[in-house]
Amino acid sequence: MVRTIAFHNLGCKVNGYETDVMIQKMRERGYRLVPFEERADIYVINTCTVTNIADRKSRQMLHRAKKRNPEAVVVAVGCYVETDAEGVRKDPAVDLAIGNNRKGDIALILDEFLAARKGDGSAEAVPAADRPGSGNLTDHPVFESMMLDSPGHTRAYIKIQDGCNQFCSYCIIPYARGRVRSRDEEEILTELCGLAVSGVREAVITGIHIGSYGLDRENAAREKETGERRETPAGVGGVALQRLLLRIAEIPGIERIRLGSLEPRVMTEDFVSAIAAEKKICPHFHLSLQSGSNAVLRRMNRHYTAEEFMACAERLRRYYDRPALTTDVIVGFPGETEAEFQETLRFLEAVDFYEIHVFRYSARHGTAAAAMPGQVPESVKAERSELVQELTRRQSRRYREQFLGETETLLAEEICSGRELTRRTQLRAEEAVAARASVMEAAETVRGDAAPETDYLIGHTSRYLPCAVPARETEAKPGELVEGRLVRELPGTAFLVLRAGIADLVPTAGEEQSLLQGGANRSGSERNQKK
Ligand code: SF4
Repeated sequence: MVRTIAFHNLGCKVNGYETDVMIQKMRERGYRLVPFEERADIYVINTCTVTNIADRKSRQMLHRAKKRNPEAVVVAVGCYVETDAEGVRKDPAVDLAIGNNRKGDIALILDEFLAARKGDGSAEAVPAADRPGSGNLTDHPVFESMMLDSPGHTRAYIKIQDGCNQFCSYCIIPYARGRVRSRDEEEILTELCGLAVSGVREAVITGIHIGSYGLDRENAAREKETGERRETPAGVGGVALQRLLLRIAEIPGIERIRLGSLEPRVMTEDFVSAIAAEKKICPHFHLSLQSGSNAVLRRMNRHYTAEEFMACAERLRRYYDRPALTTDVIVGFPGETEAEFQETLRFLEAVDFYEIHVFRYSARHGTAAAAMPGQVPESVKAERSELVQELTRRQSRRYREQFLGETETLLAEEICSGRELTRRTQLRAEEAVAARASVMEAAETVRGDAAPETDYLIGHTSRYLPCAVPARETEAKPGELVEGRLVRELPGTAFLVLRAGIADLVPTAGEEQSLLQGGANRSGSERNQKK
């Protein structure tokens, strides 16, 4: 009988990539994938440990799975397993635990587990190496090789490195994922060539700290050559990253390369000028700020100042036309005074981001910040978060609206009904609110409905503006690039309507008025052909 398996992913994009790889491996092994809400023979939860809340959520999902089917094998995987091996070991909901760096072996580990369990029916029969904490990262200092063949989307996340050497005072990640390990450049290119053949058109470069890509190899090579043991400061240079990106751009079929989160220190003049010359690299940069106050940045053990960050934003704006700059900010970090918060707010205003993801500081035991004096009350964090949300709503709307009336190209991802687009927008807003993170979606209050029965071809522009083309106006299919003019917002959604094939049209006086007002419905007959 075919066994069923369900996955639940928590946390970051890297976890998402690894979950995709695990799904692929289990499918190849003959398992049938079912939704997590259904009864399954095996549940796999790829856990997260970034805050105490993430730990709690990981435990909740493990227990939810066991409750859904007490006979099922519940597998805890990843970061939470690494940081609380003892808790996982004692948890009656967990049958099997797999640490980071063993995720690629999931099929094998499960086979062994099931064979052992058949023997005496006890989880104690699990081989010792596969018990909680087995992903001991000091025993696995190299990058775990994983390959994704066909994610089934036009966009794929590509993991290029793991681990972090930065030790920001609030973050547990260096303990959960170990030190920087870079993936072999040829292996990344091989994976991407395969993905391009299977229909992937956009590669999102992901890792725990991608600015450190290649530094471990550089340090090891120097040590071998000179005997000198010296660490290159993480995030400085980006030479290996730059070379990798330019080689990815040569892969036929890959039309876009989008960079994951980067620190400003990577964005040197050399780096930016080199990547700006390659048009496949999207003008969309997520630069982690965390605070606009230098005093707070120092307490966070971030290795840059607000001034350096601003210089980096200005550099990007010199090389790119209105790049989409997005960021993360933590409010209520221990000791954050009202003056320091106001400094951050002014800084955010000055940089003028497309999108700010704001997080209320949440203590993570085992980190330096959790033990710092001056923990900020939740009510103050909530007020500060609300102010940043207010700012990002304004900035984000202004950023998007400036492109109305302009020609843009979207990479088509899928076809959705108007009803589905409204539903997804609502869902994302609810999730954002539930996560207490003021991501932009939370700002997208529903203002009416997209025509529920109309089908739209949806995708994103290179600046990551979400767009929708009425399907009846285009013959393009997912995976293709569609050029057109952005004419208005799609009511009830976060999408802008792109009229395909009218890039060479000029708006009528009525359309111009509508664009200025933020967009109202117009019929195609109102359009004028450019002479
Ligand atoms: S850079 Fe800082 S926040 Fe990011 S993973 Fe490393 S330690 Fe954590």
